[in-house]
Order: sequence, then C-alpha cells, then structure tokens
Amino acid sequence: MSDEWALATRLVHEGGMRSQFGETSEAMFLTQGFVYDSAEEAAARFAGEAEGYVYSRYGNPTVTMFERRMAALEGAEACRGTTSGMAAVTAALTAALKAGDHIVAAGALFGGCRYIVETYLPRFGVESTLVDGEDLSAWEAAVKPNTKAFFMESPTNPTLALVDIAGVAAIRDAKAPEAKVVVDNVFATPLWQSPLKLGADIVVYSATKHIDGQGRCLGGAILGRDAWIKDNLDIILRQTGPSLSPFNAWVLLKSLETLPLRIRTQTATAGVLADALATHKMVKRVIYPGRDDHPQAELAKRQMAAGSTLLAFSVDGGREEAFRVANALELVKLSNNLGDAKSLLTHPATTTHKNLAPEARAALGIDDGLLRLSVGLEDPGDLVADLTRALDQAAGRTPMRQAGE
Ligand SMILES: *Cc1c(COP(=O)(O)O)cnc(C)c1O
Repeated sequence: MSDEWALATRLVHEGGMRSQFGETSEAMFLTQGFVYDSAEEAAARFAGEAEGYVYSRYGNPTVTMFERRMAALEGAEACRGTTSGMAAVTAALTAALKAGDHIVAAGALFGGCRYIVETYLPRFGVESTLVDGEDLSAWEAAVKPNTKAFFMESPTNPTLALVDIAGVAAIRDAKAPEAKVVVDNVFATPLWQSPLKLGADIVVYSATKHIDGQGRCLGGAILGRDAWIKDNLDIILRQTGPSLSPFNAWVLLKSLETLPLRIRTQTATAGVLADALATHKMVKRVIYPGRDDHPQAELAKRQMAAGSTLLAFSVDGGREEAFRVANALELVKLSNNLGDAKSLLTHPATTTHKNLAPEARAALGIDDGLLRLSVGLEDPGDLVADLTRALDQAAGRTPMRQAGE
C-alpha cells in the first residue's frame, strides 16, 4: 500500500494479505504451525533462506497484518504485537537493558509499569531512578554514565500530567546518546501524539485500550526502528513467548479501521464533559490536556494534536463524596479499564493506585476526591446529564431516588 494515501485510508487497507480465496475482510489464521512442501523447504525456512512462517510464536499472518497496520499508524519502521500492554513494556525494556545498566523513569506510571521499573528490572541487576516526570532538570540530574533507557507515559494516569518528550530526548542526545527513549503512548493515543517524531526511539501500547476500543481483548504493540527490532527485540520475543494470539490480532486489526472515528468522537465528547464539569459547584478541579487551564497547557499544544479521551476531576470533599458521585451514576459504568466505547469511571486512590503509600499518592496529586473518567461513544448530552445528576445528588441538591423507582 502506498504511503501517499492518507492515514484513514491506510488504516482500512494497510498490511492486508489476501489468501487464494480473495476474501474482502482480513482472514484469521488460527493456527499454531505451518506445513512445508518438502523437507528442503522446511530446512530453508529454518535457515532463514526462504520466506515463510514456521511457528506462531515466531510469527503469524494475522499478527503480521496487525503489525503492519500499526506501523503505518505510528509512522514507525516496524512493529511487533504482544499478548498485552505489560508484555510490550517488559519486552521492550528487557531488550534495551542488561545487568549493570541504569534506567530513568517518571514516577507517575501505570501500576504494572512502575513495578517493572522499580522492582522487576532491579532483580536482574538493572539500576532504576524514578523522577518527577514534569521536571526536566530532574531527568537530567538522574542521568549516570550507565544510563541506557528513559521511560515515560504522557499524559500520565490518572492525573493527566505531561512529560516533555522532546525535552527528555534532548537530554538523551546531550548526556546519554546510546540510551533509548521509550514512551508508553496509551493515554495520548497514536492519533494525538507521535513520540517517534518527538525524538523517542521506541513506542509501546496496551492495545487493550483504544486500539481494541470495545473492551474485548488484551494485546500490546512495540514500535521502533527495523534494525533495533530485528537485532534486539525479536530474539527476546521469540524465546520468551509473549506472542499475540491470532484471534486477538484479528480483533485489533479490524478495530484499527475505525480508530480515527472513535478517537475523534471520544475526544470531542471529553472536551464537552470537561467544560461541563468545570462549571459544577461540586467540582474543585478538572484536569484535561485540551483545556487552557491545564497546568501544562502550552506543552499540551506543542506535543499533542488534541486533548485526550480521558479526563480527571476532584470533587469537593474526599473519598465519601467521590464514592457518592460514583454510586449515583447510571449511564457511566464503574471500571478501571479505559479507551472503551462505554464511558468508565474509576476512583484511583482505592483501586488502580491503592498500593501506593499515601505520601506517594499525594506526590502524584491523587487526592481522595479524584475521579478518572474514560469517555466513550455515548451521546455527549446523555453523559453530561448523567454526571450532572450524580454530582447534584452527591451535593444533596436533589433527593435520593427511592428503591424501585
Ligand atoms: C493498561 C495499560 C498498560 C498495561 O496494558 P495491559 O494490556 O493491561 O497489559 C500499560 N500502560 C498503560 C498506560 C496502560 O493504561
């Protein structure tokens, strides 16, 4: 497929491989292995002298179609699918690091990512330093002669703080040119932020989120330069086996066809909701990268093409008031997942971030009144009505409904 076609076009067609039956929709190759025409053919494929698949842990046609379409979306030379987002993060970092190396990462990370950096990698002799991701001087001060990776998410979960990706890449250039800048781009989505263009080397996704977009299956992706992937990553993926299931690859591949439609709609609705929430008396603070009152609004405009499908807000009071709002919602569902067609709300302090010490939560700005909302594809008016009614009810302005009413 020509890379002169626009992104929307490529997301419908890129990477497709038709079988001899000429199917319109991409086929699902739900097979573990592949049959060879001759013993010589098998030997040639194993020797790397003939093209072709040998085993689905190494590669599978449906997975390849997903990888090619993802690479087109990200503007990356190559992509590898993985079984989950955490498998992508773990494989990318273990391929970039070895015992004796050092990694600098933002402290505001998805729980699993923080475990990999803070606990898992050090078990194998990798030193790690967590910094305040918003503070470029902290990134710079943390660099050591053995720094081989920088890792960040932007916007962060759940407070939607930003890391200046180009700023970290400039520190890499100046102080640790061999180090890889690895960006978990889940919250920004591939549509609104292109870390490779900002100087990152490797981008990882939990495809479980917006890429699936309908809450069905787990998946992940690692994107970067072809040579790095072939020389460093492939051996790790092949021998440790976090292979993406062809079934999940097929679901994710078909989802990429509608990704721009979904992300645009969800982002527009998130903007409407952020503005509506900001006017409610019960809401102390709204955090949305698309609003001018975001603490890093200038950086948001510089590095993101639009806001996000996620927003966070703090209700007046603490945990009790936040729970009251959450429990009063009818349309918005309570769930810690995100990027779904269904709007989902979570209370980070008692769910996704409950394992952090209270001081660590406070340092990240996660107060007990904070709620995170992943905006879905419902009608914006219905969502505004549901949130407003829940907030009114929590504020005691409307009577509680009677059971059975
Ligand atoms: C969900 C998520 C992950 C982990 O992805 P899984 O598919 O659940 O393994 C990693 N990073 C971020 C930012 C996420 O939101």
